[in-house]
Amino acid sequence: MHELAITQAAVNAIRQRMGDAPIRTVTLEIGALAGVVVDSVRFCFEVVVDGTPLQDAVLEIVEPPGRARCRDCAREFVVEEPRIPLCPVCGGANLSVLGGQELRIKSVEVQGECAQPADARTTPESG
Ligand SMILES: [Zn+2]
Repeated sequence: MHELAITQAAVNAIRQRMGDAPIRTVTLEIGALAGVVVDSVRFCFEVVVDGTPLQDAVLEIVEPPGRARCRDCAREFVVEEPRIPLCPVCGGANLSVLGGQELRIKSVEVQGECAQPADARTTPESG
């Protein structure tokens, strides 16, 4: 199970970095084209963090949309499906992916650290 291995690796990386500090929030960035099922990651996270300093952590997942650019007609477009389609403008298959393949730990928030002021949010609620 692909997602379990990915989730386990992310949790291991966080524990290595944060030690035994209790974690409040974990934010993962999983692009639409990363080939990872976000719902599965959420489920695996609950299993993997059980009994660790992350067990009370809230998992937040940011999902950047897929974006590609056609090398033939230079048009950029959004890719909504998990696989790269043909160019919707010219039908070309000569595409370069610009975004949506992200798969990383975006941020980790430790419990008990000074709370950030409410206006320090960096993620707008758009999209
Ligand atoms: Zn094209």
